[in-house]
Amino acid sequence: MRVLLIEDEPDLARQLSTALDEAGYAVDIAGDGEEGHFLGDTEPYDAVVLDLGLPKMDGLSVLERWRQAGRDMPVLILTARDRWNEKVAGIDAGADDYVTKPFHIEEVLARLRALVRRAAGHATNDLVCGDLRLDTRASRVTVDGNPIKLTALEYRLLAYLMHHRDRVVSRTELVEHLYDQNFDRDSNTIEVFVGRLRKKLGRDLIRTVRGLGYRLTDDADEA
Ligand code: CA
Repeated sequence: MRVLLIEDEPDLARQLSTALDEAGYAVDIAGDGEEGHFLGDTEPYDAVVLDLGLPKMDGLSVLERWRQAGRDMPVLILTARDRWNEKVAGIDAGADDYVTKPFHIEEVLARLRALVRRAAGHATNDLVCGDLRLDTRASRVTVDGNPIKLTALEYRLLAYLMHHRDRVVSRTELVEHLYDQNFDRDSNTIEVFVGRLRKKLGRDLIRTVRGLGYRLTDDADEA
């Protein structure tokens, strides 16, 4: 899962991006509205954390432009305290949820988890495929109840496939959603990660769909 964070206060941006990184997201940071708008307009994100008070272009305009252009990724806005009208304007402009400053990072993470899973059509934080279970709250993976130790990238890959289970996901899509924009991307490494994941899971849940990509499924009928 890849998240865009648009926040102009450096300390807050750093705190948030560290927490997001630890929670298993690839994170891109923009420090002003123009850059943030551009990234959200051109890169595929699974969710956006958008501060409303921003230099160059305010958060509300950023959001309005995206929505007018048909960009429909989930957006969590950060609003100032005691500005109820800001929340209303934000939601009317197409925000999916808001958090009021000052906030506990945990609240931002929880609301973001909910937005990401709802966008992928899941009602709970526990994603299940056969006896494979991924708890997005604790970033924990178990197979038949036994915990599986994954690296950050392996976890991110599995989380993306679990969110989009039973659907064919191309390697390009994986590259776009697993790495931040500064990462030296190479779609060949995806194959390596999938191989490691299969080995660690000890299950044939990640199918290769020749020429198209991968599909996570526990449907035993399919070869
Ligand atoms: Ca601000």
